[in-house]
Amino acid sequence: MILDSFRLDGRVALVTGGTQGLGQSSAIALAEAGADVVILGRSDPNETGNAIAQLGRRWTAINQDLASASVSDLQETVSQVVKDMGRLDILVNNAGIQRRTPAIDFSEADWDEVLQINLKSVFFLAQAAGRVMMQQGGGKIINIASLLSFQGGITIPAYSAAKHGVAGITQSLSNEWAKHHINVNAIAPGYMDTANTTALRNDPVRYQAILDRIPAGHWGKQDDIQGLVVYLASAASDYMHGVTIPLDGGWMGR
Ligand code: NAP
Repeated sequence: MILDSFRLDGRVALVTGGTQGLGQSSAIALAEAGADVVILGRSDPNETGNAIAQLGRRWTAINQDLASASVSDLQETVSQVVKDMGRLDILVNNAGIQRRTPAIDFSEADWDEVLQINLKSVFFLAQAAGRVMMQQGGGKIINIASLLSFQGGITIPAYSAAKHGVAGITQSLSNEWAKHHINVNAIAPGYMDTANTTALRNDPVRYQAILDRIPAGHWGKQDDIQGLVVYLASAASDYMHGVTIPLDGGWMGR
């Protein structure tokens, strides 16, 4: 039955930034589909963890600041997941930050922080997870990209550079790893109602301008990511490789 192929029973997922926002909704969706979940972040994981526990799934948390984590720290994180949970089947590379400053004044510190969290940690976590998945015979890597993987945005040059990079490495990894039964794909959320977009939603002019361009007529909610994340984590998507899928209320079609 086709719906059975969406089940994730017995799988283990690592969700970066699973403490809130799109990562929290993703973590809960994966648990609803049957997966056990490791939540990576800096803040209190209990809200997400309690929701996972109520679903009867196992969860643990890894407190890690991706702004300062070295490549060997990220490898250690993946080893910790395997030690605690026995395996790693799904990586959701979701953690991300935004820094808004006109390009003419954009600082090196902001550039480095955005690229470190939104791109470098995405690649090296995928590399560490890929090594485990190859040994296990396959896996699923879901990178959270953005509409800024396709567009330049306004006052967010580092974010746009990083998210274009996420779409690029999604294809690069896919080209090398599809033959190992590892699916690497990305979700490009549109304008979603999370902490990442607080500044935009607090600017009435930008808020309305964005809203006017969304064919669906409203901003996305954090749970809107759940169906796609479960699909990409499951056997239902086994022949899908290297794509960055907009989830945007129709924005990219305008
Ligand atoms: P959010 O509510 O601000 O959540 C960001 C998450 O990233 C938090 O769980 C945070 O966890 C984690 N994070 C941030 N800095 C971190 C660090 N230094 N180390 C470890 N974890 C860190 O934003 P969101 O909207 O859910 O964003 C999730 C992803 O979706 C991001 O990659 C974002 O770029 C992308 N996205 C969002 C939108 C949107 O409209 N909201 C649109 C397109 C793409 P802790 O606070 O626990 O560290």
